[in-house]
Amino acid sequence: MNIILLGPPGAGKGTQAERLVERHGLKQLSTGDMLRAAVKAGTPVGLQAKAIMDAGQLVSDDIVSALIGDALDAMGPDQGAIFDGYPRTAPQATSLDAILAARGRRLNHVIELDVDEDALVERITGRFTCASCGKGYHDRFEQPAVAGTCDRCGGHDFKRRPDDNEETVRTRMAEYRAKTAPILPIYEAQGIVAHIDGMAPMDDVTAAIEAVIA
Ligand code: AMP
Repeated sequence: MNIILLGPPGAGKGTQAERLVERHGLKQLSTGDMLRAAVKAGTPVGLQAKAIMDAGQLVSDDIVSALIGDALDAMGPDQGAIFDGYPRTAPQATSLDAILAARGRRLNHVIELDVDEDALVERITGRFTCASCGKGYHDRFEQPAVAGTCDRCGGHDFKRRPDDNEETVRTRMAEYRAKTAPILPIYEAQGIVAHIDGMAPMDDVTAAIEAVIA
């Protein structure tokens, strides 16, 4: 099974992808995560991508498509993939078709999380994660049970993404509207798109996704 999770930044793609990984043994392929890892490791790709990411703009199609191809090649042929944050432009959608076809894969579902942009800004600017285990938290919606201590691993260091500030978030949303939303019709024409209310409680969103892929 190969699934695209589509939706603006903060729509909950990462959270839902994690749940699909746990329940179905799929592999989450997040180009944002791959790029952040490249930035952290100081690779040539990371050096090129950092300023673009910090500004909330899109990294070049060739770079992200190469990352996705490499990630698929590192997987077993029978393991399904969840594409999280990719494709984000029409050329990336075209590349993904070719990348999948070359590996004998096809897309089963495109799941679009519909959300309200102003609510998203609040969601995104309040989020932070445990620096040790990556568990996600939120200033307003999900604080650790004991302040300053991670519920999952007991760690005491937390971090925020540098691009999770309001100005950059607005730019990322404008990028989504201008470049990513227009790829939906490509998949609508294939009859594989499901629209899900991304403002619903997280468990309801998960249930709706489960119903689509069942
Ligand atoms: P994300 O974690 O998906 O919100 O991505 C964070 C940032 O990484 C984005 O704002 C872009 O700068 C870059 N990025 C991630 N995925 C892509 C992609 N598919 N195409 C272009 N840029 C991307």
